[in-house]
Amino acid sequence: MESFEELNINRQLLNAIADLGFEKPTPIQAEAFPVGMSGQNIVGIAQTGTGKTLAYMLPILQQLKFSKDYKPRVIILVPTRELVVQVVDQIELFAKYLSIRVLGVYGGVNIKTQMSALTQGVDIVVGTPGRLYDLAANRSLLLQEVKKLVIDEVDVMLDLGFRFQLNNIFELLPVKRQNIMFSATMTEDVEILINENFIQPEFIAIALSGTPLDNIHQSCYPVENFYTKVNLLSHLLNDKETYQKVLIFIDSKKNADRLFEALEELLWGQIVVIHSNKSQNNRLAAIERFNDNNARILIATDVIARGLDIDDITHVINFDTPKFPENYMHRIGRTGRAEKMGHSILFYTEKEEDWKKGIEKLMEYDIPTLPFPKEVKISKELTLDEQPRIIEKNPHKKRTHVAGPSFHEKKDKNKKDFNLGGGQKIKIKKAKKYKKPITRGQKNKGKGK
Ligand code: AMP
Repeated sequence: MESFEELNINRQLLNAIADLGFEKPTPIQAEAFPVGMSGQNIVGIAQTGTGKTLAYMLPILQQLKFSKDYKPRVIILVPTRELVVQVVDQIELFAKYLSIRVLGVYGGVNIKTQMSALTQGVDIVVGTPGRLYDLAANRSLLLQEVKKLVIDEVDVMLDLGFRFQLNNIFELLPVKRQNIMFSATMTEDVEILINENFIQPEFIAIALSGTPLDNIHQSCYPVENFYTKVNLLSHLLNDKETYQKVLIFIDSKKNADRLFEALEELLWGQIVVIHSNKSQNNRLAAIERFNDNNARILIATDVIARGLDIDDITHVINFDTPKFPENYMHRIGRTGRAEKMGHSILFYTEKEEDWKKGIEKLMEYDIPTLPFPKEVKISKELTLDEQPRIIEKNPHKKRTHVAGPSFHEKKDKNKKDFNLGGGQKIKIKKAKKYKKPITRGQKNKGKGK
């Protein structure tokens, strides 16, 4: 799309966008606009830098008519107070020529000030789930008029444990509303939230094409199961010359701990692990050790690794294959930075093969397969998740063993992911990264996010 005029947005919005110096909509903005206008639920898979804030705000601001009512019509939930400030700043810039009242609410500051600000009347409330719920619970924030709910960075939000607050807020909101959700990564938790709360959402996925694929040497190994992956990993990591600074990605906190325990003895002192169940101090210490090259190996979950700024990673090892190809792109983008050559190795089981194909399709590149090293032992030990499930069919009958635990099940689930909600297909667009201007929020709060 060549210009914002093509979206048929009003003059006030066009002028504000022109003031910001934006020439044309980013792919996610162009893609999300008609869906936003239609009132359909939206699930956007996009990270910061794709222009996602304006993507969800454009249709909202285009449709929000002037009102004197004091009850808000739009709620935007974000995981941190820094983000609240940043999003409010951005909305104020976009709505510069509109009469729209925006308020940011977050914890850690006096609730009374926010309560009194709400009595003045607002159109859009941007808040963290905890404080927003408190304000709704004490009835200073009335949610009956809410027509649109935006949840931004939902993966981070769930990883921080905001599930309960989100559910509480959902209960207070009118059933008839448009839900717009953005997440940089897809996790099981995000998927559950979508399935439980979003009716027939339109999926919009934006893959950053800025990932310097040319600088990343990619390869993959077919591996039988979790503990065989552990054996292969130990074998590779034995080569300290090659594997100098290794970031290992794994899907869940549980598996991160399981992997750490399995490698701890062999790699004593060289390996650290981070995920959101670890204390802040613990995480900082681990990252510091990795950054200072005191620990050679860092195990991390997708969500927790996002905010990390670590240089000179020689290898990214994907201990599992991400179900959503964008997660793989995020992972491997952690190496091969600043013109340096990076390496990415992917382990995939038979169950994960379809996901690998999805990644290859997105990249339009087949990851070269390496032969499984003969000296690596194939383990027969299975994790609980890998074990065949035993279903109690009928108390009078014998127990039935169901072979191939979650393979078929996951395959079906996978199909659903790409064809969710009655024929909705994920559209994957390529986007480049857009620079973030300095906002008041950033100036005041340092890094912002
Ligand atoms: P976001 O992904 O929403 O955090 O946006 C990142 C940054 O991209 C914003 O702060 C804007 O400065 C910039 N941006 C958003 N939309 C556009 C656009 N259409 N053209 C150029 N830059 C943009």
